[in-house]
Formats: sequence, C-alpha cells, structure tokens
Amino acid sequence: MTLVSWFSKKETVEKTSLPVLSRLLGAMRESVLVVGEDTRIVASNDAAYNAFGRKNGALEEKRLSEVIRDLSLHAAFRKALENGEFSDLKLEILGTEKRRFDVHIAPIELDAAKSAVGIFYDITQIEHLERVRQEFFSNISHELRTPLTSILAFVETLEDGAIEDEENNRRFLSVIRRNAERMHHLIDDILELSSIESGNIEINSKQLSLASLVKEVFTNLSNKAEERGIKLINEVPDETKVFADAIRLEQMLTNLIDNAVKFNRESGNVTVSYTRSGEKDLISVGDTGEGISGEHLQRIFERFYRTDRARSREIGGTGLGLAIVKHLARLHGGEISVSSNPGKGSVFSIELPANQ
Ligand code: ADP
Repeated sequence: MTLVSWFSKKETVEKTSLPVLSRLLGAMRESVLVVGEDTRIVASNDAAYNAFGRKNGALEEKRLSEVIRDLSLHAAFRKALENGEFSDLKLEILGTEKRRFDVHIAPIELDAAKSAVGIFYDITQIEHLERVRQEFFSNISHELRTPLTSILAFVETLEDGAIEDEENNRRFLSVIRRNAERMHHLIDDILELSSIESGNIEINSKQLSLASLVKEVFTNLSNKAEERGIKLINEVPDETKVFADAIRLEQMLTNLIDNAVKFNRESGNVTVSYTRSGEKDLISVGDTGEGISGEHLQRIFERFYRTDRARSREIGGTGLGLAIVKHLARLHGGEISVSSNPGKGSVFSIELPANQ
C-alpha cells in the first residue's frame, strides 16, 4: 500500500493520520521547512531544528530570512509561493562548521492557503568523501607517474645507443628495475589499503606471544638494520600475551619497525616495549632517529603524507604504511598514536583492547 492510500483510509484519517504524519516527519533525516505566504515558517521537523534552529530557538513563526540568510533560497521559495514553481538548489550554511545541502522546494496548498515546502538533504559528508576519493586518485596517478617517467626515460636512453655503453648500461637497467619495483610495491600497498578499507579482511584475534612475534619481525628486518648498524632491542617480557590477529599484528609491527630503521640515524637503536594500561595493551616502537616536528605529527597517518617526499621515495617508501597500520589498529578496536622529540627520536604506540 502506498503512503498516500494508507493515509486516505477513513479510519486512519480519523484516528491516526496527524500524529503519524508528525512522527514520520520527526523520524526523517532530511530537514523539512514549510513556509507560508508571508515567508514565515509555519512548520518544521526535528532535523530542521537541529540544522537551523539551535541558535535561533523554535523555528515556527520566524521569517525564513531570520533563520537562513541565502538569497537564492528565498527566491526559490518565492517562486513556489507566487508562481507555483518547483526548484532544486545547493545551499551552504556557514556556522561553527560549514554544511552543504541539496534543497528541493515545492509549492503546496495547506488549508486553502498558498505555502511552500523545502526539503534539505545534508550532503556535507558525501561531498567530503567524494573529495577524499578524488584526491586519492590524483595522488595515485602522480605517485605512479614519477617512476614510470623515469623508466621510459632510461629505456629511451638505452635505445638511443646507451645499450652499447658497457660502463653504464647495467646501471641504467638497475634504475629501471628499482623504479619498476617501486611501482609494484605501490600497487601492492594500494590494493592492501583498499581491501582493508572496503571491509574485505577479517580479523581473527586470539591470545598470542608478543615477544615471539617481535623476534620474528626482527629476524625479517635484520639485514636492513645491519646495513645501517642499527641495533634491534626486544624489551617485551617473554610471558606477555596480547589479543590480536597474528598476521595483522605482524604487518603493523613490520611497518613501524621498518620505518624506525629507515628514519633512524646510522648506528641508532630501535626498541620495542610493552605495557598494560588499565584494560589496554600498549605496544611501543621507539627509535633514535630524526623525529617528527609538530606540524607533521598529526598528518603522517594520512595516505601519501610524508614529511620529506623525495627522501621517502629515495628509500623506497610508498607513504601508505602508516595509513595501513592505522586502519588495522582500528579494525582490532584499537588505535595508533605517536609522540616525537625532533632530533632525538619518535615512539609509535599501538593500543589494543586487552582480552579480559
Ligand atoms: P613511507 O612509505 O614514506 O615510510 P609511511 O606511511 O610509513 O610511509 O610514513 C609516512 C611518513 O611518516 C614518512 O614518509 C616519514 O616522513 C614519517 N615517518 C614515519 N615513521 C617515522 C619515524 N620512525 N621517524 C621519523 N619519521 C617517520
């Protein structure tokens, strides 16, 4: 049964239609404003009060211009009242935070009086997500284009004769290989991030020995650490158990420890430690590297954000590692945080809910 036919049933009209109609309007996420011929508001719903009324008080009886100052909105209501015209427009409200609405305005007749109804659909979040998505694609294209340009340039150099140049041809080939590997790495990280974000991975948490897991990650990264004379120190007590997905925790620790090695000074230290804080387990990865200054600190978990883009590329970074760690920590019901002392080092901490 359609809403209209249901409302038209005699017993519904007599007994319930008014309270039901008002509850229906109250339950809507869209804001609804009904404006009379004198452009005063004659009716509104809770969503409209939350969007436009908070600092203005009750909306009824107020002039539309007192509640929302926007010329094109007024013109559209006028057109509905005077000429019976429908309109659609975008509205921006600048308050403590900027909000954007898709608005549909239609003429209606109430008790033989000309009125107009406006339905306001809040598109702030949708537009924000759309912007984030566009930025992500433009970042991806840019990140892929850089190594690709380099590959094409070196292939051309080889084709133009450098292939016969015995002193340099192998070096050129190794530049091509390095850039192709970078693209490969980047695509792996992008796919990983997108499968995590789309909720396609499952977290199978169980009790596991943190000290053994850290040992395993240290073994995998030992060559890289040795190359720079960096000491890997496992301060996690042997008996420590945490509640997590083993593969995903290993992935988070690998990213953090790999960064702690990459951004360390020569012959520095990387220390992994554990503390229990109330109902939370805190796993910290500390380094003795260059640190991160305040302006960058809050942004380094964003996709592709790097304090020094050229340097991160040079040492094989994709700028996605910390974004992956952040998502994985959240999938565990936890969080990632960082504190840093520029010039002295940084500490990244994964917080996980403890299994009681
Ligand atoms: P990348 O692939 O560049 O390492 P991440 O997402 O892992 O990407 O890290 C983002 C940026 O955060 C890095 O480029 C670097 O600028 C900064 N960063 C991460 N870890 C550290 C660290 N331990 N010390 C200093 N800077 C760091």
